[in-house]
Amino acid sequence: MIDKLKKLEAIANLLEPSAEQRTAWNKAVQTYADQFIDTIDERQAFIETEESGKAILDVPFQEEAREMNMLIETIRTEVDTPGLNPASGGHLAYIPGGGIFPTALGDYLASISNRYAGVFFASPGAVRIENMLLRWMCQLIGFPDTALGNLTSGGSIANLVAVVTARDHKDLKAKEYDKTVIYVTSFAHHSVQKAIRIAGLREVQIRYIPVDDRLRMDVDALEKAIAADKTNGMKPFMVVASAGTTDAGAIDPLDRIADLAEQHELWYHVDAAYGGFFLMVDEIRPHYKGIERADSVTIDPHKGLFLAYGLGAVLIKNVEALQNSHYYLANYMQDVINEVEEPSPADLSPELTKHFRGMRMWLPMQLYGLKPFRAALEEKIYLCRYFYEKIQELGFEVGPYPELSVMLYRYVPKEGDANEFNAKLVKAVRADGRVFLSSTNIDGVFWLRLAVLAFRTHLYHIDLCLEVLEELID
Ligand SMILES: *Cc1c(COP(=O)(O)O)cnc(C)c1O
Repeated sequence: MIDKLKKLEAIANLLEPSAEQRTAWNKAVQTYADQFIDTIDERQAFIETEESGKAILDVPFQEEAREMNMLIETIRTEVDTPGLNPASGGHLAYIPGGGIFPTALGDYLASISNRYAGVFFASPGAVRIENMLLRWMCQLIGFPDTALGNLTSGGSIANLVAVVTARDHKDLKAKEYDKTVIYVTSFAHHSVQKAIRIAGLREVQIRYIPVDDRLRMDVDALEKAIAADKTNGMKPFMVVASAGTTDAGAIDPLDRIADLAEQHELWYHVDAAYGGFFLMVDEIRPHYKGIERADSVTIDPHKGLFLAYGLGAVLIKNVEALQNSHYYLANYMQDVINEVEEPSPADLSPELTKHFRGMRMWLPMQLYGLKPFRAALEEKIYLCRYFYEKIQELGFEVGPYPELSVMLYRYVPKEGDANEFNAKLVKAVRADGRVFLSSTNIDGVFWLRLAVLAFRTHLYHIDLCLEVLEELID
């Protein structure tokens, strides 16, 4: 037995590299990372390759070890080359992400010590960090000190947690689902519909409220829809507003929707996954009036705080409601929340064991201070406004004046179908690769979108985008 254990130990110990080995690996990874960042402006925002990373399959798992340098080379060619480069300042499509450097360091530290951030007693420090971040975000949106929430992997899971909490708090019964109504606009992010379905609410009626000429929820129409539903014996349950739509960056009239939610006792969810952190910009803050009256808010630090992918947040005013939907073990655990100094994330989330994802946000916020984040967010707003002016000078038509950092535009050619022309144009931009753009369809009209949120996007990239578009329309 001892012999066997000794033999196994010798092999199992390969999992604990020597100090020398660690240094060599660190150096290889760091060299690659530095080179990636230092050459970022020479890299295309989008690269189409014939093989689209297929050669990764030529490196199967095997019994024996492989060389780090060979693996990094494979990552370079097969993973970090084909497709979208989200780290690029030329990423102006969908909702760009970020990848500020200290996110990686935070992940590194969190992985090395592997602190258990699910339960307070297991890592009081890690849980304090996570709750501190949540309270800071609650404060940003104007929630009371008693509010909290949960750090999630992203906005989709945050929306799901909010829908589940609303469902349970309003005590929806399955037999009433087909009489229950949720109000959204057609500009709500698709993760909201997805969350409704995953939460088991497939049979609930989703009412699509019309929008005004700036693509924001028409509150008069909402009021009428609620009244009509009540008259018809339906049960209005929840309203989901957007604070920054994906299509056009529009903010629904949050305060007026709050009035109706209050009056009709609806759960009020605001999806601010994209737009939430613009609250840090004084000039923009008033647009969000009423967000503090929501029951729940989704906000995505991996968008508006420029972190690498993997961090969203749901903020909930009534923490007890959140806990009632997510505690584990048994009812007698409910009062644990009051007995320890800090609520445990595992009691407020579908997850138990999880990535200590607070570290990747806490470290950059402390290391940089808030100032550069605030400036970068304001810069993105102004870059979008700049583009709005310049693109018209190139003869493009524009959508509503951008409220945040997303806007719509399209080229209407003298002859031929405008939709076809713009669909071709977005394909041509993708093939060119210097910048990356996406499109949307609103009432049958094909629009190009500009979405400025990558932290590396500066005036240079917006001018480059204008240059590319000018070249391609010829
Ligand atoms: C991005 C986004 C989501 C989804 O968030 P993920 O982090 O991608 O899961 C939801 N709502 C809005 C408004 C978004 O912009």
